[in-house]
Amino acid sequence: SRREGFSVIPNVKWEDVGGLHLLRQEFDRYILGGFGVDLETGFLLYGPPGCGKTLSAKAVANEAGANFIHIKGELAVRTIFSRARTCALCILFFDVVDALTTKRGKEGGWVVEQLLNQQLIELDGADQRRGVYVMGATNRPEVMDRAVLRLGRFGKLLYVPLPSPDECGLILKALARKKPIDASVDLIAIGSDEACKNLSGADLSALMNEAAMAALEEKLTAQSSSDADHPTSLTIKKTHFEQALKK
Ligand code: ATP
Repeated sequence: SRREGFSVIPNVKWEDVGGLHLLRQEFDRYILGGFGVDLETGFLLYGPPGCGKTLSAKAVANEAGANFIHIKGELAVRTIFSRARTCALCILFFDVVDALTTKRGKEGGWVVEQLLNQQLIELDGADQRRGVYVMGATNRPEVMDRAVLRLGRFGKLLYVPLPSPDECGLILKALARKKPIDASVDLIAIGSDEACKNLSGADLSALMNEAAMAALEEKLTAQSSSDADHPTSLTIKKTHFEQALKK
């Protein structure tokens, strides 16, 4: 994104995050009452793509009133840390997925190494760190095993799994907060439908958008065939989810 590397307090709230209650509990344990010492060595979130690693890191920042800098690759690590210090309280979020999976795998490894070296320096000067906290995200923990875990730099590993059927429903509910869902729709039931098995949060978000599109198309069709004085309402109904699931 254009905002990569710049700080902003994210507008993601925990209500926007479906499921992931254990993850939230873990965060609360470490972050309650301000950032505790345990966070000094950072969190590493790992798990399949699109399941809420970035989203929940943003919710943590929002709740703490902290700035959030999203790093996806190749910016100079030392510059990033000094930028983060100027806007502490700040969470530095290193999305190392891309860096590690590019064709330039070596370089990706280098980015991680650079990050770790700088982090070591930062951690040595603990009082210079001044409210900069580090989180990382990857869906390849086996790579992180070697590069990061051995060095013991990320003090806390947190798994962010694919949602369970119940959690699929909770994610749909979280996504529905900003959508005109018909009151008759049972999102928990849709989430536990066989068709939602193995979908990630990102997939469910796409499903929600498809359902919204189906509702919109239906409204437009109805409008063009009836008189404009009686506009049909736009709500997303069960049939729209069914159409979206087929897609
Ligand atoms: P990656 O490993 O690909 O970086 P990620 O785990 O960081 O993925 P996110 O960026 O957090 O995934 O999620 C992508 C999008 O999917 C979110 O912006 C949101 O729309 C949706 N999403 C994912 N998980 C959830 C969730 N638990 N609750 C609500 N929405 C979710």
